[in-house]
Amino acid sequence: MKKISVIVPMYYEEKVAEECYNRLTNVLKNIKDYEYEIIVINDGSKDKTLEILEKLAQNDEKLKVISFTRNFGHQAAVTAGLKHVTGDAIVIIDADMQDPPELIPKMLKLWEDGNEIIYGKRKTREGETAFKLLTAKMFYNTLNALSDVEIPKDTGDFRLVDRKVVDTINLLPEHNKFLRGLFSWVGYKQTPFEYERKERFAGKTKYSLKKMLKLASDGIISFSNKPLKIVGGLGIISIIISICILIYALLSYIFKLNNLSSGWTSLMVAITFFAGVQLLSMWIMSEYIGRIYDETKQRPQYIIDKKINL
Ligand code: UDP
Ligand code: MG
Repeated sequence: MKKISVIVPMYYEEKVAEECYNRLTNVLKNIKDYEYEIIVINDGSKDKTLEILEKLAQNDEKLKVISFTRNFGHQAAVTAGLKHVTGDAIVIIDADMQDPPELIPKMLKLWEDGNEIIYGKRKTREGETAFKLLTAKMFYNTLNALSDVEIPKDTGDFRLVDRKVVDTINLLPEHNKFLRGLFSWVGYKQTPFEYERKERFAGKTKYSLKKMLKLASDGIISFSNKPLKIVGGLGIISIIISICILIYALLSYIFKLNNLSSGWTSLMVAITFFAGVQLLSMWIMSEYIGRIYDETKQRPQYIIDKKINL
């Protein structure tokens, strides 16, 4: 019998954990001819999330729990799930029920038809702030302008993928994984699945601005070298500008066009402008160097504290 695995990352989700389990179980047990498992990753929540999961898992061995020693982030949690799933078709879904689990049977049909990656594409997004919508749009536009692989817009991590795809992703050694980019990068037969993204069932978003910025920079840096080329561009532009200033300075010296005070202004402008260009360039380069440093340390992406039914 074929098997469906569902991966659910949870971070401070005590308000939704049980509802999430119930709704998923309801959908999965009604899919004929398939076994299933639900793998929840507790990403270092210190509320009742783990307690609730432990109780549920005692009565249901199809519910498997991996608990991290601390918060390692959403992408690390999903990565741990991918390493542990045993199914033929694997679903990644958020705990807050913004991506309705009732869609899984339809996605499964597309998989049976031979598609290997069925990625959720949001037609509408209910209950998101204008800020989130705007920043998300800016991020995907920037990412696609910079990167060589096409990363579909309005897509999150909600998707159903074939075993083969998971095996491939598991072979990739990089640490700062930007999964939605990697899923696009690996190829295979991909198809979008349009749906309406709902409001969070309960609780607040666990993606703080800091986490969103980390995800965005991981995405851009791991999929593009163009920012480094921009540094080169900035260097050339500033050399051209400095030559212009040099010519102006020489001419004004020769023809005595200048008095002291305007000489001071142009000097200050030149110094601050070039200092700005240099610092910006250093910042861009240090982002890359930081990632290289991170990768060379070879530390694991997450540490597991506890496994249940696994
Ligand atoms: N999440 C996680 N670790 C984190 C942040 C989030 O495992 O550090 C989980 C969270 O519990 C949820 C999913 O990732 O299941 C998506 O988070 P959320 O719904 O808060 O993000 P949003 O939908 O607002 O982008
Ligand atoms: Mg959410």
